[in-house]
Amino acid sequence: MKVKDITSRDIWQAKKRIAPYVTRTPLVHSHALSEMTGANVYLKLENLQAIGAFKVRGAANKIISLPEEKKKNGVSTFSTGNHGMAVAYMASKLGIKAMVCMSRNVPEVKVKNIARWGAEIKREWDSQDQAGVYCYQVEQETGMTVIPPFDDKEIICGQATIALEMIEDYPEIDTVLVPLSGGGLISGVTLGMKMTVPDVRIVGISQQRAAVMIESLKAGHPVEMPEEPTLADSLLGGIGLDNRYTFDITREYVDEVAQVTEEEISRGLAYLMKNHKVIAEGASCVGIAYALRKGCIRPGSNAAIIVTGCGIPMGQVRAVINAHF
Ligand SMILES: *Cc1c(COP(=O)(O)O)cnc(C)c1O
Repeated sequence: MKVKDITSRDIWQAKKRIAPYVTRTPLVHSHALSEMTGANVYLKLENLQAIGAFKVRGAANKIISLPEEKKKNGVSTFSTGNHGMAVAYMASKLGIKAMVCMSRNVPEVKVKNIARWGAEIKREWDSQDQAGVYCYQVEQETGMTVIPPFDDKEIICGQATIALEMIEDYPEIDTVLVPLSGGGLISGVTLGMKMTVPDVRIVGISQQRAAVMIESLKAGHPVEMPEEPTLADSLLGGIGLDNRYTFDITREYVDEVAQVTEEEISRGLAYLMKNHKVIAEGASCVGIAYALRKGCIRPGSNAAIIVTGCGIPMGQVRAVINAHF
């Protein structure tokens, strides 16, 4: 099976390439969710990655795959969230120069987390889009490679390694719930799963507000939307009007998509804290939020929910505890 230019071999090569830099995360049984749904429900805990999110997989695969002369010129990105962290982290591990460009509106705590890995930080813009334009300009002038957050073969193959681990740990798996934003994660997981388990059911889940991939699927082509505040902040951002991979792969191979409300995300966070003593960020709890809806995980099925990251401000944790305990 070959989807665009991606084959199973590419995903296995990614697994081998990134192994020294990536934690093989556990797939833990959720007694609580299993009891509630009548299914066997497991959680894939990507919040346990050293940088706190699965994004290290794609960033590692992309950066390691660069030709040596490109590595010498360094890498850049304009994502200020978990992808920016992943790029800065991998560059520091490999001794490559990294530049992260961001808007002045990015909170200080995020800037500090990225600066910890020694990346050069530029904050001279009013939006992420403007910072992105600058990165591509620098790439033209100096050869510093832009590491895209999701719409890229190597990024997708890196994220796909999550599927290989889940199949190895739980070959009976027949349902996967995946948080959905730009679609690098769901494209990788879907290809990684379906190349081995063709009849698996993949559900992509986004927040209610400004869910660009889901609106694009409805429109039949990539659309742009303004961002809106949400607990699932890591799911914000567009998919690119010139999207090459993730829109088509999601449209063609993902079985269902769904959206969850802010209240449901908050309850998902609380559920994870209460039943698993795990603190994760809003974006990573949309799968649990969906699973808590009656009938969404089919009784008797063997399901995995990907918990994607743990980048949550303590103030938000406090608010969730106050609201639900
Ligand atoms: C990036 C991210 C996602 C979504 O991944 P996409 O590839 O953009 O769909 C989900 N959860 C967390 C925590 C993320 O950082």
